[in-house]
Amino acid sequence: MIAIHSIFESISGEVGFISQGSWCTIVRLQGCNLRCRWCDTKESQSIEAKYILSIDDVVARCKNSKVLLTGGEPLIQKETLELIDYLIEKKHFVQVETNGSISLPKGYLSDCGWVVDYKGPSSGMMDRMPSFEEFIDNWIEHRVIVKLVVDNSEEDLEFVFQVLSKMHGLFQFAISPLDAKGEKILDIVNFIRERDEKLLDELIFSIQMHKVVGLL
Ligand code: SF4
Repeated sequence: MIAIHSIFESISGEVGFISQGSWCTIVRLQGCNLRCRWCDTKESQSIEAKYILSIDDVVARCKNSKVLLTGGEPLIQKETLELIDYLIEKKHFVQVETNGSISLPKGYLSDCGWVVDYKGPSSGMMDRMPSFEEFIDNWIEHRVIVKLVVDNSEEDLEFVFQVLSKMHGLFQFAISPLDAKGEKILDIVNFIRERDEKLLDELIFSIQMHKVVGLL
């Protein structure tokens, strides 16, 4: 059994292995171990679940071949790995969004794509992140896009530069500015360009498309 906040059809709003703008099934899992300052899904933080469903039930409700698992934090429930494996067995393409604070069990491998946050200063949750070395060790064997949600404060920009410098060449990175329309992307581009232009090569800038078009 697994705690679910909601299952719905929408567009994949951000950069990931499911192309941004693709119609897909979104499974929002209930419960999160973090409390980011700018969380936009506060209703999914509590462990009090609206629905407790069997894995079979969840999979039966996934109508689309592309399934995006998000939260809350999917990895606080150990059943999530079983759900991922079963969705893949049923021929879905699966992408999981996770907050970066929880590592996968050693030896667990999956064909799904992982969009893994590394939380910066503006989240207020940076002290809950693993060290750069632990993060690399956790995720290097998996299909990962590292997502950095940032504002354009001096400390967040410095954080982006530190992450890119330490993990350069190991992952792809999605930069997701806090303003939904991406008006601050140019500030971020200019900051990185001044420090080390080649770091821009690994970046994908992402705006939250679902918010721009008014979908969940
Ligand atoms: S990890 Fe995600 S769901 Fe949890 S508090 Fe942060 S933004 Fe909200």
